[in-house]
Amino acid sequence: MLSHAARLELIRSVFSAIPVYYMSNILFSKKFIAKLTAVIRNFWWTGIRETDSRKSLCLRAWKDISNSKTEGGLGIRNLRAINESLILAAAWRLAINPTSHLYSVLRAKYFPNTTIWKATPAPPKSAFWAAILKMFPKIKYHAFYQLTQGNISLWSMPWCTNWNTIHDYLIPQHSAFAYPSLVKDLWMTDARSWNHQLIRQLFREPLASQIINTNIIQDDNEDLLCWPLAPNGSCSPKHAYKICLQDIHAHPRTAPTQVATDLKNFLKVMWKNNSMLPKIKTFAWHLLSKALPTGMRAGKFSSHISQICSRCAHHEDDFHLFFLCHFARAAWFAHPWFIRSDTLVHNHDSLLSAITSFLNSGHPFASMQNIFNFLWCIWKARNELLFEHRKVHPNKIHIMAANTDCALQAEALVSGQVYSSFSDSLNNEQHIPLQGTTIKSDLIIKGTKIYSDAAFRSSKIPGI
Ligand SMILES: [Zn+2]
Repeated sequence: MLSHAARLELIRSVFSAIPVYYMSNILFSKKFIAKLTAVIRNFWWTGIRETDSRKSLCLRAWKDISNSKTEGGLGIRNLRAINESLILAAAWRLAINPTSHLYSVLRAKYFPNTTIWKATPAPPKSAFWAAILKMFPKIKYHAFYQLTQGNISLWSMPWCTNWNTIHDYLIPQHSAFAYPSLVKDLWMTDARSWNHQLIRQLFREPLASQIINTNIIQDDNEDLLCWPLAPNGSCSPKHAYKICLQDIHAHPRTAPTQVATDLKNFLKVMWKNNSMLPKIKTFAWHLLSKALPTGMRAGKFSSHISQICSRCAHHEDDFHLFFLCHFARAAWFAHPWFIRSDTLVHNHDSLLSAITSFLNSGHPFASMQNIFNFLWCIWKARNELLFEHRKVHPNKIHIMAANTDCALQAEALVSGQVYSSFSDSLNNEQHIPLQGTTIKSDLIIKGTKIYSDAAFRSSKIPGI
């Protein structure tokens, strides 16, 4: 069975393998996109099973998972947004380059008497042109021309606010009047400034004032079409994806669940942490997003899944599994933590609050990397007992967590990267007091100190 992080990598490679040619030329139907997404979603939650796995145990909505990492999601690309963004980028290339061969072909067939900005859907049309027409309203809504030469159509291009309804504000003139055709025809002769008298004669308010307030840039370059949502003013597929995803999320049915600000901020710091393995980060996301299939959570979906802890008779929720079960308490009480995990989570109503407080406790070993490595190993030990009937001793959890760090070091060596934080963590470990010398750690632990003497024997505790 692949880990979630491995599945994440595989899904990313699948996305890159989906023929971009089709995605950037045809706007797939919502039904087809939903079918493709269902295949990816099932693979994400269940992996590949030899048995029939039509029903997967999805503990979070796909729209939450495909939300960006900065918004509390996992950043898996939304297939519909990818499709729309590639079409949008193609529409942008057409708009910005009206002298291209493709533009000429489309103009000859679909809009011989106007520009692409005023093209209307008229059947029959090709799948590509139909897709462009569906996405072009986004270009019309956001893009605008920076006026330098004024060599663009006054009536059919985006050069001022309300350009799309310019005819509604037109004041009819006498029959011999020659209407201007280009923007520069509204300028003073031999000067790049608006001809106020002509504008007020031609257009009603508020358009007349809007035109007069439109900036003219004193530059010799051609008029430039701009995409204001990108720093460089160009609608690349990346920036197109952002706006398409934003529009999808604006709809109540496809909007992801709002993530609390403190969790979003915590996750942002975690994703930037280079000391953590991707699989540990993905595990931490599941844990903090309440998407880990503990007994209590998974048991709600099937009567075949026990809600009881595999080691004791308590209900298995997040707190019990990682902090309150006697196995977890024994693991936390051993080297190098030497803490009572039940008091650690006492008075906390969420794991995020407990972990944040633990991180700020001043414990010499309490780094984000160490805590989540340890939690991940508790989870792994639980799964080994539950599914493979293999028992792990509580004091082995730390060794397993340390081995996770070795995997990170091996990865760093293979990729040629130097993880200074990793070597830092090794150095820190040398200062951590060994078992039996716990009192020394008092010097560096802030806050309330609890002194206790305890021992752990596996034979006295059933189920371990
Ligand atoms: Zn238990």
